[in-house]
Parts: sequence; C-alpha cells; structure tokens
Amino acid sequence: MMKLLKIGSKGNILIGTMAILIVSFIILAIFIVSSLYLVDSENIESISNDNFKYIIEDYDKNIESKLHESIEDTSQKVVMSRFPVQDSEDTIKKELNKKLDSQNREFKEKYGITIESNVLSVETTDSPFIIKTNVQINAEKDGEKFSSVLTGKTSIEGLKDPLPFTKCGFSLPFFYIGDRIQYGTSLTEYLALHGAVDAGQGYIGASSPLTIKKCPFDPYTHHGDGLTLKKCLDDGYFHESADGSCYLCRLEGKGTCPHYGLEVFIVTLPNPEIQMSTSAPDHVIFKDSYPGLAYEVWPTQRLFLDSSHRQKYGLI
Ligand SMILES: [Zn+2]
Ligand SMILES: [Zn+2]
Repeated sequence: MMKLLKIGSKGNILIGTMAILIVSFIILAIFIVSSLYLVDSENIESISNDNFKYIIEDYDKNIESKLHESIEDTSQKVVMSRFPVQDSEDTIKKELNKKLDSQNREFKEKYGITIESNVLSVETTDSPFIIKTNVQINAEKDGEKFSSVLTGKTSIEGLKDPLPFTKCGFSLPFFYIGDRIQYGTSLTEYLALHGAVDAGQGYIGASSPLTIKKCPFDPYTHHGDGLTLKKCLDDGYFHESADGSCYLCRLEGKGTCPHYGLEVFIVTLPNPEIQMSTSAPDHVIFKDSYPGLAYEVWPTQRLFLDSSHRQKYGLI
C-alpha cells in the first residue's frame, strides 16, 4: 500500500514538473514571437541617431507621394489605352517598387544609407477616397540598422475616373471638355448592347464628371434641400457607396466590387417622352442595370432614379 502511494506521488511530481516545463516553454515562445514582432515594427521614434532618424523620416514622407504617382501613372495608362489592367494592386505595386528602388539608389548617393524596400500591399481603406500601401524597409548606415513596415496613404481626388474609359473603350467613343465626359450616343449603345434597348434612349447626350472629387454634402440626405443636388451635379462630386466599385477595381474595369466604393450620377437631358430608364448611378449603368423614374433637377438636367437612391439622397 505504501509502495503504491509512493509511486503515485512520484507520478504527481513528474506530471507537475512536465506542466511547469510546458508552461515555461509557452511563455518563452510568446516572448520570442513578440520580440520578433517588435523588431519587425520598429518605430521611427525609437531611432537614437538624429541624422539616421531624419533620413528615415524623409523616406517615410516620400512613400505617400510615390504611391500617388504610381496610382496616377496606372490610371493614365488605362485612360489612354481605354483598356483595364488585369490586377491593379499588382500593377501599382510594381510601379511603386520601381520608384522606391530608384529612390533607394538616390538615398545611397546622397546620404550613404543602404535601403532595401519591398511593397507588401496596395489596398483600399474604409474611405473609398483613400488608398494605402505597406512597405517593408530594411535600412543600414554606419552600423546602425532600422527595419520596419512603413505605411503611406494618399487621396485619389483629382485623378480621372477610369471606369467610363474601360467600359466604352474606343468602340463607343466619347469626348471630354473641361471636367466632364460627354457621351453623345455611346451610353445608349452601351445599354442596348447590355440588354436595355429602350432604356438607352434616355441617355442620348448624357454626361458625367471626369475627375474624382469628394461630395461635401454630407449626410447625403441633404441633397434634397434647395439647390444642393444641382450644385452637386454641377461640381461633379462622387459619393461613398457600398454598391459602387472602389478606385482599384475601376482600374480593372469593374462596375461593382466587394469593397466599399464610389458612385457618381450620370446626368441626362430632359425629354418629356421618356419617363423611365436605367437608374443614374454609374454602377447601375455599367453593371447592376435596374430602372429609375425621371427626376427633373433643373430645366437642363435630369436623373433617372430608383427609390433606394432617392432615399439615400433625400429626394423623395
Ligand atoms: Zn453629392
Ligand atoms: Zn474594389
């Protein structure tokens, strides 16, 4: 009996020791992983050498403008060719990598610093007007090292909307004067090609804004107050929309996408004979295709609007 008890307590000691070992191992593993993470996301503020810190800060600031240039270059390519890019994130990543590589060489010459950079992502944010990038950089100067993921954000305001270019191509020509795209009969033909033959008649002489501008009339239900909707259409503002496509997907020629995106009204000319056509937000014209009733904004401007968009913009 005594012997059995002894074996039992020995077993307990063994289990206890093993448990302590396992717990210590887990604590050690957590410590190693978190310290690795800390090295990976080193803060610029933590750099003690002022000169080194200044160079990294300068580099960090430049990411924003290089990202903007990379998006603009890609957008310009789409607008000129009227052809979408296959993978906009990848295209912009490559552009940005090229620009950063040349900046790395410039920094080496100017400051004697060695920087390796790699663009990890280009993505939309919770504002469809802002695109962000994450860039891994490893820098070294006179034995001092810095390694981190730097984030840059830029606005797409002022860039051309690539969607009409990718949807109409050169086969459905349109031109633009100032900041407006004039479709002529292109949207009528586009809608006919996509199954809305009669609806298309309402879009003869339609127009939409050329460049992205964020609508200041927020909350959007205020569009129903006085001349707000007319001001919005005259200035060519874009709106946030869960249905419309984001800027990155617009570069790929997509009228809708799973990301939080943008929508803009395609304005038509009054015509008393046509009271119903495809609803005016661009994602409805270029993808979703459902009808809306004529809404006279001004003697020279009208919109076809479905009830949910009327509600969204306070136009009931
Ligand atoms: Zn607006
Ligand atoms: Zn998207």
